[in-house]
Amino acid sequence: MKISDSQKKELQNAIKGEVLIPGNDKYEESRQLWNAMFDKKPAIIIRCRNKKDIAHAVNFGRDNNLLIAVKSGGHNSAGTGSCDNGLMIDLSPMQNVEVDAENNIVKAEAGCLLSTIDAATQKYGLAVSSGMISHTGVGGLTLGGGFGWISRKHGFSIDNLLSAEVITAKGEIVTASASENPDLFWAIRGGGGNFGVISSFVFKAAKIGTEVLSGPIVKSFDDLKEYMQFHREFVRTLPDEMTINMVVRHAPPLPFIPEKYHGKLVLLLPFVWLGDPDEGQRIIQNVRDCTETIGDGSGMYPWAGWQTAFDELNSHGARNYWKSHHITDLSDGFIDAIIEYALKFPTTECEMFIPHMEGAPSRIDPAATAFPHRKTPFLLNIHTRWRDSSDDEKCLQWVNDFHKATEAFAKGVYVNFISNEGADRVKDAYTAPIWYRLTECKNKWDPDNLFRINQNITPSNHK
Ligand SMILES: Cc1cc2nc3c(=O)[nH]c(=O)nc-3n(C[C@H](O)[C@H](O)[C@H](O)COP(=O)(O)OP(=O)(O)OC[C@H]3O[C@@H](n4cnc5c(N)ncnc54)[C@H](O)[C@@H]3O)c2cc1C
Repeated sequence: MKISDSQKKELQNAIKGEVLIPGNDKYEESRQLWNAMFDKKPAIIIRCRNKKDIAHAVNFGRDNNLLIAVKSGGHNSAGTGSCDNGLMIDLSPMQNVEVDAENNIVKAEAGCLLSTIDAATQKYGLAVSSGMISHTGVGGLTLGGGFGWISRKHGFSIDNLLSAEVITAKGEIVTASASENPDLFWAIRGGGGNFGVISSFVFKAAKIGTEVLSGPIVKSFDDLKEYMQFHREFVRTLPDEMTINMVVRHAPPLPFIPEKYHGKLVLLLPFVWLGDPDEGQRIIQNVRDCTETIGDGSGMYPWAGWQTAFDELNSHGARNYWKSHHITDLSDGFIDAIIEYALKFPTTECEMFIPHMEGAPSRIDPAATAFPHRKTPFLLNIHTRWRDSSDDEKCLQWVNDFHKATEAFAKGVYVNFISNEGADRVKDAYTAPIWYRLTECKNKWDPDNLFRINQNITPSNHK
């Protein structure tokens, strides 16, 4: 669709933010997504400054029959933050954060990056449970679940969500909380951007202080099997204060990794301990002692700094394809598949990310939110990452083969780690009763599927 000058002018007069069409300054910048696999060109971008702007945008999109995509941080690996020839609602100008330090409550506008929230909350030693890469957006991350370094202790982002302001498909501004529109509140905690556009989130924050014992310990790839056989039991005995994740990849040239390992396959073991540092050191020594430690970058780090530790390895602009599963057990067969496919990494930027997920989230009733797969202890996220489009075919082949090879050890998937894998794959993020309930909510809040540029929950009456 081509937006006429008069349409643009009328819209611009009605809102505080900016209206952009192809050729305008900032149009190119605003349409960018994290994943360079997607080069979508919306017919119009509305850069919203407040909830009323969002309501105008939703009304404009609906009344003009436009596809509507919503962008917070633009990180979704499936490229759902934008669309071709439709309307992109760009929330990135909305980055205000209010901290009520007395009550540990944080209100964050939906365009915030995680770094913006960390910067505001850390002034008070607080942190909102969220993700591990600071340039991710709070919008998509929260609506899918949101896990990171403190979620084993404090719950997922959705477990700390107290309320949200939602602009519905009708353009109405409503509150979703335990007491107001509780069905909507339930659905947005795991059901993604299917039910409306969130303008702000209110979270309970955790008092974690400003420094944490954290850092990566590095192991040789040759010892991977022995280490993983230890890890699969060991981490499951740990208090929730300790989170140790695994990353299999080619070693980046970091100062604490001996040069001879740079560019070689290694196992990184980043961890965070939220307690007395001496106690944390005692626990993590078990990891250092199991198989040879070839690098150790751990120490007391400022929380906000630690949150950026892996930003560079996940920077914008590369081509990416993510595929994932929740994993029931790091069995020997699973470990063998990890070794086999690591040896076949199609590029040196690919990695296998295997976080330990159990803790506070697994003690929450799986039906309490729309994130039911809470009890699987591990997750595998296959980060396939490359630069050159001529490598597309070999990279996609590798990730699909590897994903299939690990299916036998999997149960369900995290909705935020799904790529464009078809409508049926979305259902794997849920269980049948949760899917049914989500569909009911979709029928009520978005019966015409206005919000469909996402991992879509299709209304049951929709043709
Ligand atoms: C480098 C990187 C690191 C990551 N690390 C983690 C991690 O540690 N933990 C974790 O849980 N996840 C992580 N993720 C996954 C992340 O949660 C998803 O990619 C998420 O969709 C990103 O949110 P976004 O707002 O940046 O993305 P966007 O692409 O802007 O949004 C994704 C989708 O969310 C919906 N959406 C976003 N904002 C709104 C809103 N305000 N209202 C309605 N719908 C909205 C839309 O449907 C949109 O298509 C990571 C992703 C990347 C790329």
